[in-house]
Amino acid sequence: MGKRVELHCHTIFSDGTLTPAELVSRAKKSGVELLTLTDHDSVSGGAELFAAGREHGLDVRLGIEINCAGEGAADRVHILGYGIDPESPGFQERLAEFRERRTVRASRIVDNLRGLGFGIELAQVRANAHETIGRPHVADALKRLGVVKSRKEAFDRFLVRGKPGFVESMGPSPAEAIALIRDAGGTACLAHPQTAGKEPELEQLRALGLQGVEVNYAGHSPSQVRAYGNWAEAKGLLAVGGSDFHGPGTGREERLGVDYGDAEAGAVEEVLSRCS
Ligand code: AMP
Ligand code: ZN
Ligand code: FE
Ligand code: FE
Repeated sequence: MGKRVELHCHTIFSDGTLTPAELVSRAKKSGVELLTLTDHDSVSGGAELFAAGREHGLDVRLGIEINCAGEGAADRVHILGYGIDPESPGFQERLAEFRERRTVRASRIVDNLRGLGFGIELAQVRANAHETIGRPHVADALKRLGVVKSRKEAFDRFLVRGKPGFVESMGPSPAEAIALIRDAGGTACLAHPQTAGKEPELEQLRALGLQGVEVNYAGHSPSQVRAYGNWAEAKGLLAVGGSDFHGPGTGREERLGVDYGDAEAGAVEEVLSRCS
């Protein structure tokens, strides 16, 4: 029998719009059999996640997504961590530093937007952020101010490189993100590899200790699934998958989970064994 799994999703502890309990309830209704929460730079959703998992009888795990910074393609590298021990010494302290740097970045973005004449304030950006702050929260504040109609419009007009609100990411380097996850006992995987570059960039990440790559990603075309699947197999990388669900109102994927067919059962079992 095939299996529906979700290994990449977000809650209000980063830039998602559902609570962990709401996420688990929705995953159950979507037929998901395994859910791993991967909030950006936060593991604070864990307690609520596990309680909801018990309540709904759903197998839930706690992971992480770390957005990187640096020259070239590095600022488009997002590293997913599975099977991390959140109590590993120094792990949560490092995440807290990344979150502080995100707040500095957000305040600079707000300065840029104020320079354009918009009456946006950092407090408004913080208002709907439970913990990790990011550009999506700036987008939401612009939406509430009536400047834009969607997160996508805010990114396209103001928040991406080359647009007037843009400020460089202040995240860790890919090497640091991979090491942090591995030092916490986790498995480091590349999220949405199509944004991180082509084969040379991917090979660089592998040389830094990358252990897996998103293959069965909801945003991938069938040919992308084949290409990244072949790369993973040729290089002995773990093939993970998910939808990158952020919740209603975010203008993104609204269905939780991706399907693994019978032929990929082995891949799912390996993922499961690494995600405990
Ligand atoms: P940040 O972490 O502050 O650099 O913001 C990047 C996050 O914004 C990504 O991890 C996505 O969750 C989200 N994002 C990126 N592009 C878009 C977009 N066009 N529309 C909505 N969300 C986006
Ligand atoms: Zn996100
Ligand atoms: Fe991402
Ligand atoms: Fe994500």
